[in-house]
Amino acid sequence: MANETQKSTKPSNFIKEIIDEDLRNNKYNGRVHTRFPPEPNGYLHIGHAKSICLNFGLAKDYNGLCNLRFDDTNPSKEEVEYVESIKEDIKWLGFDWGDREYYASDYFDQLYEYAIKLIKKGKAYVDSSSFNEIRESRGTPTEPGKNSLYRNRSIEENLDLFQRMKAGEFKDGEHVLRAKIDMSSPNMNLRDPVLYRIKHESHHRTGDKWCIYPMYDWAHGQSDSIEGITHSICTLEFENHRPLYDWCINELEIYHPQQIEFARLNLNYTVMSKRILLELVKSKFVNGWNDPRMPTISGLRRRGYTPESIRNFSERVGVAKRDGVIDVALLEHSLREDLNKRAKRVMGVLNPLKVIIDNYPDDQVEELNAVNNPEDESMGKRKLPFSKIIFIEKDDFREDPPKKFYRLAPGQEVRLRYAYIIKCESFSKDPKTGEITELHCTYDPETKSGTGTSNKKVKGTIHWVSAEQAVEAEVRLYDRLFSSEDPTGDKEKDFKESINPDSLKILKYCKVEPSVKSLTTDDRFQLERIGYFCLDKFDSKEDALVLNRIVSLRDTWAKIEKAQQRK
Ligand code: ATP
Ligand code: MG
Repeated sequence: MANETQKSTKPSNFIKEIIDEDLRNNKYNGRVHTRFPPEPNGYLHIGHAKSICLNFGLAKDYNGLCNLRFDDTNPSKEEVEYVESIKEDIKWLGFDWGDREYYASDYFDQLYEYAIKLIKKGKAYVDSSSFNEIRESRGTPTEPGKNSLYRNRSIEENLDLFQRMKAGEFKDGEHVLRAKIDMSSPNMNLRDPVLYRIKHESHHRTGDKWCIYPMYDWAHGQSDSIEGITHSICTLEFENHRPLYDWCINELEIYHPQQIEFARLNLNYTVMSKRILLELVKSKFVNGWNDPRMPTISGLRRRGYTPESIRNFSERVGVAKRDGVIDVALLEHSLREDLNKRAKRVMGVLNPLKVIIDNYPDDQVEELNAVNNPEDESMGKRKLPFSKIIFIEKDDFREDPPKKFYRLAPGQEVRLRYAYIIKCESFSKDPKTGEITELHCTYDPETKSGTGTSNKKVKGTIHWVSAEQAVEAEVRLYDRLFSSEDPTGDKEKDFKESINPDSLKILKYCKVEPSVKSLTTDDRFQLERIGYFCLDKFDSKEDALVLNRIVSLRDTWAKIEKAQQRK
């Protein structure tokens, strides 16, 4: 139920309830300060978009602030390319971090000082066990771990070794710094977690200054504290890390943000693991991170998604405390809803069939009036050329029409959108392939759309383009990348087996009406009766148009909703 005292028109959720409560108790002096903390080790995906909308959205709703913080603690996997793409994606989604662009690596000095403080309190020690020894002594969820041989080193020895780790005196893996908490804690995260490891590697920002790097769990909570974050929102898998973050902050006696966990966004027919997305890119199953089939923000952008549709989707799915799977049809529904309002309608023929209108004057070209968007009168009208030779969709003609086929067939009539009613008089066929190559039709001059001079009625209306003025285009029909609902769900099967072999179909010689030439790569348009399209940002050229299908017109979500309402 919506909270009636709330000012915002958006529905409430459990995170907002916590914030409201904190505001009532003046917990952070009325401040709301969130952050979005990506690790720059890949491109952002729709799950990150959810987190971005949530964190930046809360800051906006409460007149607060949201920081962008790169969690760049692992030099081996991180790259500047990713940093740049992440910034571009967040901006495109419509959010702004102002001058608050931070990096966990900016806190390396401070984190080192914090580590020294723990050592001095006897709360951290240098462990010289091997990686395997440490792993084996951790125990299992049901069995306690074993104390390390090095657990009782003196504070002096720990300080000396840690400083020498930093000075580069040791090789990778020779020592680590561990928190001294409790090897028999039922929470595995509290069994003396590793805080620092030695890595002789250059970092994309700090260069060769450091050869010890903080672990994520050590950097994360303290970074939130340093930035004065009030509500540190993260996904559920960090719930049992919270006691560790609390422990660190209490031992360091520093400012304490509040962590709140919510369920990560999962979508059916979609994978969001960065590891798998990287694999798809590296093994060339897709053409890069921004392939329009990818669930990455850059892929969705290139596909033609609007930021509004993603923000609306994110609002619709809300926040949950338990993991679940959202139907990807809901994302597509949010997209169609937005495109329906904004997309200019144009006509285009994907599989052209030539039609000659025998009784139409040879050299005549008429300029017909066409409505740009029936949903929005302010988008106006455009002129559409009509002439003796046109193209229609191959599918819109049948030599032997089934019952209720209200399009063209021998002797049958159909309306051409915005133009006339035509009748099919004859057709020619390729004798070898049996393919229909050409239709001969006649038109009824009295039936021009919008004139009201004839009351002849036909059941079907089809789209068309005038042959001479039409522009040729390549059309890329994108479909879901995976044909299975849960592509990584079956552990016996490689996720690659679930890749949809028809996720991309390229049609080369499509014909679109001439007005498409004047559109920009920011425009989204509807090819009437076919779907929503945009010009491909990278490959479309003025004299060689490339169209991406954003989404088809068929709205499976709307159907699901209707069915639910009927129940
Ligand atoms: P990994 O840590 O495995 O590389 P990640 O998806 O957690 O992957 P991060 O860069 O750490 O990547 O994520 C940045 C933020 O986005 C985190 O706060 C994380 O909780 C959030 N996030 C990531 N995936 C999702 C998702 N599917 N739904 C909601 N939030 C997500
Ligand atoms: Mg992460």
